[in-house]
Amino acid sequence: MYKCDICGSTDTYVKLYKHAYPVKGVPIEVEIECRFCSKCNFQINDDELDNQTILKVFNEYNDKYGIKPKKIINLRKSYSFSQELFAKIIGCKRTQLISYENGYSIPDDKTFIILNMLLNDSSMINNLVLANKNYLSDEEFKIIKEKIGKEPNNIILQAFFDNEEDISDYNGYTEFNINKLEEIISNLTNSAISKMKLFKELFYSDFVKLQKYCCRYNWFRIC
Ligand SMILES: [Zn+2]
Repeated sequence: MYKCDICGSTDTYVKLYKHAYPVKGVPIEVEIECRFCSKCNFQINDDELDNQTILKVFNEYNDKYGIKPKKIINLRKSYSFSQELFAKIIGCKRTQLISYENGYSIPDDKTFIILNMLLNDSSMINNLVLANKNYLSDEEFKIIKEKIGKEPNNIILQAFFDNEEDISDYNGYTEFNINKLEEIISNLTNSAISKMKLFKELFYSDFVKLQKYCCRYNWFRIC
């Protein structure tokens, strides 16, 4: 059952709604189904519809500016790598890769650049394997060598990985801080807002921060 956060009514309806969502600073306009309160017309959180919205927005973004999930899957399969191994080679978490392959999130800037590079020149995988060698076990390195058929032999991408451990506010790898989150939520909820609106505001805050402080690769700047 759905309940309005504002007036408490459980009488709701669904209608088509056109809205622009910011993704990496780019407004992505989609027509989506949203749930509203019949009494006060306030927008109501509906997990199923919200998930559909996220998929639609990311799909639209990927069509225009990003990489389609199917392309990422095909790229990985072209090397016959498992998700776990491919994630290690491109320097992201397995769960992140799964999310990219399912279209539930879009690759961060570094991963986007790496995936595009591999799509343009599949042999660049050698450089990546070598640059990420420290994160691979001997067994994994052996499996990769067998799959790509030769010994990785170049390091031109080391710069990408040199600062991997260097977590800071300035490269987008800030450590999670519960106090900061609490402060943001308490600021955003000074007046009554719905759960969905809160999530949207948090999502937006994250991108505003990224745009202002974390664009490390200026030549790639789209936000
Ligand atoms: Zn209401």
